[in-house]
Amino acid sequence: MTEHKRIYLASPHMSGLEQQYVNDAFITNWVAPLGPNVDAFEKEVAEYVGSAGAVALSSGTAAIHLALVLLNVQAGDTVFCSSLTFVASVNPILYQKATPVFIDSEPDSWNMSPCALGRAMKAYADKGKKPKAVIVVNLYGQSADYDSLKKICDEYEVPIIEDAAESLGATYKGRMSGTIGKFGVYSFNGNKIITTSGGGMLVSDDFDSLNKARFLATQARDKAVYYQHSHIGYNYRLSNVLAGIGRGQLRVLDERIEQKRSIYYRYNRALSHTIAGVSFMPEATYGKSTRWLTTLLIDLQLLKTSIPYIINYLDCLNIESRNVWKPMHLQPMFKECEFFVHEGSQDVSQFLYNTGLCLPSGTNMSEDEQEQVIRHLREILS
Ligand SMILES: *Cc1c(COP(=O)(O)O)cnc(C)c1O
Repeated sequence: MTEHKRIYLASPHMSGLEQQYVNDAFITNWVAPLGPNVDAFEKEVAEYVGSAGAVALSSGTAAIHLALVLLNVQAGDTVFCSSLTFVASVNPILYQKATPVFIDSEPDSWNMSPCALGRAMKAYADKGKKPKAVIVVNLYGQSADYDSLKKICDEYEVPIIEDAAESLGATYKGRMSGTIGKFGVYSFNGNKIITTSGGGMLVSDDFDSLNKARFLATQARDKAVYYQHSHIGYNYRLSNVLAGIGRGQLRVLDERIEQKRSIYYRYNRALSHTIAGVSFMPEATYGKSTRWLTTLLIDLQLLKTSIPYIINYLDCLNIESRNVWKPMHLQPMFKECEFFVHEGSQDVSQFLYNTGLCLPSGTNMSEDEQEQVIRHLREILS
């Protein structure tokens, strides 16, 4: 067994360009949650994705929370949300003391099922109710099917919050992921395609809402020289030092997307054609996925294995792999919550969780390291 350093699922990958922006922050003493890097980073992200504006925040979770506040989500309200996601999509619903209702995935993109969403909307309308918002998550670098989802939401006049934390740079019919809903959310956490170590961004075409988000994110200070407050505020702004990291990262985002896609193609070529029972997350024809993480499904019966066995086997070789997100409707904390399944009794998100695996997809992983991962996967699966 060869000794090597740990191969991670995804780890920060600096380009070298970040340092200059960070130095600028130090030289000018803008070591604060505002400053030129924050303003420029907002402008550059808005330009990149084609939204009217953007607000830089301390995390993607904070951005989701502010989107809910801006949509006036309150105690007793209902918010629909993709079930197959990271818990950060849902926690802000609880911060507002609202109730989440979970919507299943569809098999073609793994994202929110329009069938399930339509049934959920109808079930609520029949009771004379509707959700305050729908949080649609774009998983693992791929956009959800917004034509179908938006048609349903428009019919019931419910705004969409696009959780694009995992899909910055992906497209849907030529539009950038995160710009289709009323609000879009990006994350710059350490594992995302670009990172500021921690951070997030809220984008929208609605300037008033974005200004309000900036106000709420800086403790909701009224326009007065003395300290006066009429709203609950938050301390959610991004540091000017970290925004500097983000500016450098943004300049290599397109390169990172191509690297992520190459990583996916290498896995796909090496595994899907040679091993029966392995299939990769499909790329829907309506857009381009960044392949933030390469994820695949394993026919556990055919290959006589289990996901925990594979994860543990790789871990012993110092290779990190992970389960697909455990759906929210299967989480102990949400066991009382409603769930709308894709079709009939076909719980797609549970199936994806049971049989899915995320492979090391760091853009700083060498080809040789990826070859090792492939070799060990072949050992396990053949
Ligand atoms: C990472 C992530 C978030 C949260 O972003 P943070 O910046 O870590 O708060 C939200 N939703 C999804 C789907 C994510 O993957």
